[in-house]
Amino acid sequence: MDTVLVSKKKKHNFSAGPAILPASVIQEAAQAALDFNGMGLSILEISHRSKEFVAVMDEAVQSVRDLLHLDDDYAVLFLTGGASSQFYYTAMNLLNEDETACYLNTGTWSTKAIKEAKLFGNIVEVASSKDKNFNYIPKGYAIPEDAKYLHLTSNNTIFGTQVHNLPDTKVPFVCDMSSDIFSRPVDVKRYGIIYAGAQKNLGPAGTTLVIVRKDILGRVKHTIPTMLDYNTHIAKNSAFNTPPVYPIYVCMLTMRWIKEMGGLTAMAKHNESKAALLYNEIDRNPLFVGVAAKEDRSLMNATFVLNNDELNDAFMAACTDAGCVGVKGHRSVGGFRASIYNAMPVESIQVLVNVMKDFEKLKG
Ligand SMILES: *Cc1c(COP(=O)(O)O)cnc(C)c1O
Repeated sequence: MDTVLVSKKKKHNFSAGPAILPASVIQEAAQAALDFNGMGLSILEISHRSKEFVAVMDEAVQSVRDLLHLDDDYAVLFLTGGASSQFYYTAMNLLNEDETACYLNTGTWSTKAIKEAKLFGNIVEVASSKDKNFNYIPKGYAIPEDAKYLHLTSNNTIFGTQVHNLPDTKVPFVCDMSSDIFSRPVDVKRYGIIYAGAQKNLGPAGTTLVIVRKDILGRVKHTIPTMLDYNTHIAKNSAFNTPPVYPIYVCMLTMRWIKEMGGLTAMAKHNESKAALLYNEIDRNPLFVGVAAKEDRSLMNATFVLNNDELNDAFMAACTDAGCVGVKGHRSVGGFRASIYNAMPVESIQVLVNVMKDFEKLKG
């Protein structure tokens, strides 16, 4: 069979999500869509009970375990319904009506998580950065010791902030890592649940990675519908119903790639130098200003504006001309956002930086 080639007209994809994937992963996924492992079948048409797919699921789960150094206290699930469903899953599985959970409100996604959790228990918003349109991460807030968990959004995709220092508490974290999963090492022991929609840093849309410490489950008094109970999926290795075969396969390929890149420590180093390249230009170039507080800047989503927003359209056009797509900021922040996830090559960031430099020569 002919090898499918990734398009030569490939753009520099700065989209926030669904987002860039490693070129080699797309190449292999395309091949598997035509003929998976020489089976004479596409991966799109094989059974989720076939030994070929069971091997994919096993490798995907094992890779999560390897990358995060998980022990048997933790279960690894690939679910559906997106990170948004985890806003209620988490609270429904952990919280009784008379119990308290804490939430740090750092943006749109945290706000949505709080809304859903309120359906199940007593929710305390320990701090919020809403007063400054979520451009920083609150620090030094008190956490009630009797709280069941503290919910964090580790990276705020829309506002371009990231939690760089975890709060000092014995309360376990429940964390939405949708946009920075596998971008840096994680001290998993401090977490009860980690969840992440795949489509930012892990794979295509269609599956959600959930890592859960098993001993925190099974303690609520209310009935949990079968499909919404983590224990259902733990018992059946994420195949109680038909799992999203193709998205899980692509996640597996991405994790293989992360391992080849040297794992999470290497990934973090790579991401730090990539982000520095872009933020240095934002800070140097007199036409641009960064949106997020410097110490809370995200290594995954850089948000910035032009000093003169009459130049916005011209800058967008310059980006487009250079093949840089997805640079427009979210409507709730305005300006620009360059998402530079794991798979974003430094060469593409250099192209964007050159656009910014050329724009300064033209308009500065
Ligand atoms: C994109 C995103 C979500 C929403 O993910 P869905 O899979 O679309 O539900 C939630 N949280 C964060 C941090 C995100 O970036």
